[in-house]
Amino acid sequence: MKILLDNAQIIGVGAGCLAVENESIIYVGNSRPEGPFDRVIDCRGGLLLPGLYNCHTHAAMTLFRGYGEDLPLQSWLNDRIFPAEDLLTDEAVYVASQWAIAEMLRNGIVSFTDMYMFSHQTVKAALETGIKANISRCVVSFDPDADYALDSRIAESKALFNEFHGAGGGRIKIDMSLHAEYTNVPKASAYLFDCAAAMGAQMQIHISETEREHKECLERHGVTPLRFFYENGGLSVPVTAAHCVWVDDADMALMKECGVSVAHNPVSNLKLGSGVMRLPEMLKQGINVTLGSDGAASNNTLDIFKEMYLAAILHKGVCRDTTNTPAGDMLKMATENGAMAQGRAHCGRLAEGCRADVILVDLNAVNNVPYYDLTYAAVYSANSSNVRMTMVDGRILYENGEYLSFDFEQLQHDMRDVCARYFQK
Ligand SMILES: [Zn+2]
Repeated sequence: MKILLDNAQIIGVGAGCLAVENESIIYVGNSRPEGPFDRVIDCRGGLLLPGLYNCHTHAAMTLFRGYGEDLPLQSWLNDRIFPAEDLLTDEAVYVASQWAIAEMLRNGIVSFTDMYMFSHQTVKAALETGIKANISRCVVSFDPDADYALDSRIAESKALFNEFHGAGGGRIKIDMSLHAEYTNVPKASAYLFDCAAAMGAQMQIHISETEREHKECLERHGVTPLRFFYENGGLSVPVTAAHCVWVDDADMALMKECGVSVAHNPVSNLKLGSGVMRLPEMLKQGINVTLGSDGAASNNTLDIFKEMYLAAILHKGVCRDTTNTPAGDMLKMATENGAMAQGRAHCGRLAEGCRADVILVDLNAVNNVPYYDLTYAAVYSANSSNVRMTMVDGRILYENGEYLSFDFEQLQHDMRDVCARYFQK
């Protein structure tokens, strides 16, 4: 299958076109490459961008969008989210994961990093819809004496890896995950890092999301959450650390040294009153920072345009310095850095030989006219409702309001049905 995306605007190229053969980009430039093509799409008035990466989410939490608002964090978790999660079923996670994927594709997201439960259902949803994903089964552990080789959650993580890592032509990757320091004992952390290293898996962890978490770890172990994992497992495999709001200078140096990627979730951190991550310092240190939405319960949308915009303006305001967090860096965080964090070579850029993960953004939309610079337009003017097309591995999954890889009307029906029955058990 050969597709030509013709008459587009492309950052670094200007007016040009992009050609795709099967799953790869074979041309980006100003002239029109030789055909024939199976399909030519006239992108006039549109901007082609690399597809966006959502590097921290809990996809099935679309079930809990709007469920428990404006509550203190502990009460939000203990009185609303944890009891609601006790009611999860395979069916609910499958449908809610599909729903999350529908939202992400519509918002120009081509890949997501997921930490949750019933993860085989999220894998199934990702395989069927055609999106990319790094999916992990979240591990918590509270018994310092247990034999973690016998732990059912860890066994589930391994089984998931053995069955699905590399599935869908490499679209699906299975990571390991430790929920956080305050939900894990040192022994389980060390064991899971050993497993991940032996298997060649990556790791996802919540790190220093709240001041309380960070301080209590210092009281309990005498070290920060990041250093806790360094001492119990060695950060020996590629780690995506979500939040990192309260990390200190030594943590940042350790992240750089160990190649830890950070998932910055500005909307969730503000909505849950967690604070503001030190993004400008992290960028200065050369840490690989990406963007995430977190779950829909704490956001409420899965929208990386929104995170990118907020990241760009938030730190300017907090630091009272407009030269902070420039637009080009924000776009790189949302694309190339995300691909790097997920361990995906040849992804996250529009270049010959890269995977064809491409989105088309409407520059004629009322909020984008006029524009003087494509990067500034993408970060400061555009929003997710301007996405006209989302392509993953050369396959168009969403175009002009239509989903091409699954039956959205059926999914709407299923999601309504699951939500209506959810709390009635
Ligand atoms: Zn999270």
